[in-house]
Amino acid sequence: MKKIKTVSIYDTTLRDGNQTVGISFSLADKLRIAERLDDLGIHYIEGGWPNPTNPTDCEFFRKAAGMRFRAKIAAFGMTKRPDTRAHDDPYLRKLLRVKTPVVTIFGKSWDLHVEKVIRCSLAQNIDMICDSIAYLKKSKDEVIYDAEHFFAGYNNNREYALKTIRAAEQAGADTIVLCDTNGGILPFELVEIFREVKQQIAAPLGIHLHNDSGCADANSFLAVDEGAVQVQGTMNGIGERCGNANLCTIIAGLQLKRGYPLVQASQLEKLTGTSIFISEIANLSHSVRYPYVGEAAFSHKGGAHIDGVMKTRDSFEHIAPEIVGNSRKFVLSSQSGKGTILEKLKNIRPDLDKKDPLVKKVLEKIKALESQGYHFEAA
Ligand SMILES: [Zn+2]
Repeated sequence: MKKIKTVSIYDTTLRDGNQTVGISFSLADKLRIAERLDDLGIHYIEGGWPNPTNPTDCEFFRKAAGMRFRAKIAAFGMTKRPDTRAHDDPYLRKLLRVKTPVVTIFGKSWDLHVEKVIRCSLAQNIDMICDSIAYLKKSKDEVIYDAEHFFAGYNNNREYALKTIRAAEQAGADTIVLCDTNGGILPFELVEIFREVKQQIAAPLGIHLHNDSGCADANSFLAVDEGAVQVQGTMNGIGERCGNANLCTIIAGLQLKRGYPLVQASQLEKLTGTSIFISEIANLSHSVRYPYVGEAAFSHKGGAHIDGVMKTRDSFEHIAPEIVGNSRKFVLSSQSGKGTILEKLKNIRPDLDKKDPLVKKVLEKIKALESQGYHFEAA
């Protein structure tokens, strides 16, 4: 097992997660979610983007300031507009007025976005990054810089993408977070680019990945192995399009398999409950196939699998389910063997053993009925 610097978990369920198609958290939802995330031991909770067009998030920060969180609450925003000074930018001024120890701002790394989306010069964008961070650093303990579209920008214009984050570093950003905002990069690219950046930037690096190529979680682990000290993501991986990196998977993986002491054991046991809570409050079905926290994550159906688990748990389970607050289930079906029947009947007929003719009879009945189309998985 590789040893260990500190890694922090930065949750953006309330901001990036709230950008999921079909989700719109109310103020009350946001406050309840923040409490649950805090309870789970998340280190940073990004509450949203306080600005004049977003009264819910402004109110969230007003209420959150009066609550006791162990997590650092972060407010999110963007660099100043072109052709203003940072201290005149109404959005940055609003960001400073909310009472949070941390602010996170995003800026542009991709020349395509600078020239075609915000439509200013490449030099202006560098000034926007520097001036904004320096202005925020005067009043805030911690300024995190999200380098939006960093990987796409790097692939398009390496020198310029690096120049943007060097500017952020020089302006005093505490952490520089490399973002794959389009979510398209594959693991080998991530490692290559991360290594290159590591040689150029001394500031602590974080990672923020979207899941459009299905690699957000794997890429997050690789980034940590390469030296990232902050992982951003959302609970259950909710987020724009295909979602963000899934913090449930990342917390469990980093803690249980890479030895990072992220949360206490008693907090890790709340992982499944918190994950289900997020699905409920978002009005989403909770995928049975979520790693670690899904209902099927420790459900066993094949007769040989059930037999194996009954003999030794780790024959078909990568961790013990209770560590993350999940539980083991044996599913009754035509693929079951006598062991499953015995397990299901043990509360009402502890006297039975495998050789009892009743066990054989029940099993034959189930197989006959399933061949007619009945299901007993919920039994
Ligand atoms: Zn994002």
